[in-house]
Amino acid sequence: MSKSLEMALRLFSPKGALHEPSPGNVSNLGRDEFLGALQAAAKKNPQGYQYLMADHLLDMEATQELLAHFSETLGSSEAAGMAMAILLRRPLPDQLDRLVLSHPRYDKERRRAAVVMEKAKRAHRAGNDHEYQRLLDERNGILGLAREYCVAEMMQSGRCPHCNGTGLRPRKADECPKCHGTGRVVPDAELVSRHFGVQMRQAVEHAVEEVIHQASDLARAMDRQVREMRVA
Ligand SMILES: [Zn+2]
Repeated sequence: MSKSLEMALRLFSPKGALHEPSPGNVSNLGRDEFLGALQAAAKKNPQGYQYLMADHLLDMEATQELLAHFSETLGSSEAAGMAMAILLRRPLPDQLDRLVLSHPRYDKERRRAAVVMEKAKRAHRAGNDHEYQRLLDERNGILGLAREYCVAEMMQSGRCPHCNGTGLRPRKADECPKCHGTGRVVPDAELVSRHFGVQMRQAVEHAVEEVIHQASDLARAMDRQVREMRVA
């Protein structure tokens, strides 16, 4: 990422207000000048700007705006969700079920649920239906909450659950085969064609590339502007 863009994003970040721009070759420009340059560049690249805000600052509003943009372009809100996941390098909805099973937190809770299930079976054998139902609900509750937690964690962090984001296979310490050593969940674009056909997959990839392209245009425009202001 370009230095001037990084600086501008830092001003927007929650901690930005506390952090004055660090000393460096661009610090002689003030906060307002940075934001002005960013605004000008963002106007020409609105989706590129939303992408940067969503990706670097986890900005909800920018995420919603991008989703709406994808929905309109692709004519499907479901495909829009997939485009969003690919853009932000997050798992696609269809991948989540499998990923949840290898999440360490889920594994732990699954064992806890199994203990409760044993008790439930015992109650059932003893003819205690009320207790059986209660324990069954408790076990389903444990699994449901664990799933919710793991999905939220993976969507937020983008960490590969197999290697916990290290990129190394647990205990073997060689490359994690699931994320190919990146430590990130790899969105499986193949699922788009399986769901919607090849044409939609191409449309999704095109829409995602367009947004990434806009973001790099924005970064270049920022650099140019900042350079011009420094000369002036
Ligand atoms: Zn991994």
